[in-house]
Amino acid sequence: MTLADERIERLHALAADAASTGHDDRAREYVRLARRVAERNRRSLPRRLKRFSCDACDAYLRPGRNCRVRTQDGHVVITCVCGAQARYPYR
Ligand SMILES: [Zn+2]
Repeated sequence: MTLADERIERLHALAADAASTGHDDRAREYVRLARRVAERNRRSLPRRLKRFSCDACDAYLRPGRNCRVRTQDGHVVITCVCGAQARYPYR
């Protein structure tokens, strides 16, 4: 675990925390920062953060609040309130 990974994890936790208390804009900032740290250090985002953030608007996604989750043809389809969809194979 590198220092960058630790920073990413901390930003992830902050994003989750902000989102859970309704501070969506702040959560988005943390998601952006986490992505930036990951890019700059060539680290990949933790799987959970990757799945629960919107590629289009950087929102930290919370099912039932700002995104819908459906399963379709062996995939999980996550639709953000901004309209962007992400599909992941279902495990
Ligand atoms: Zn979005």
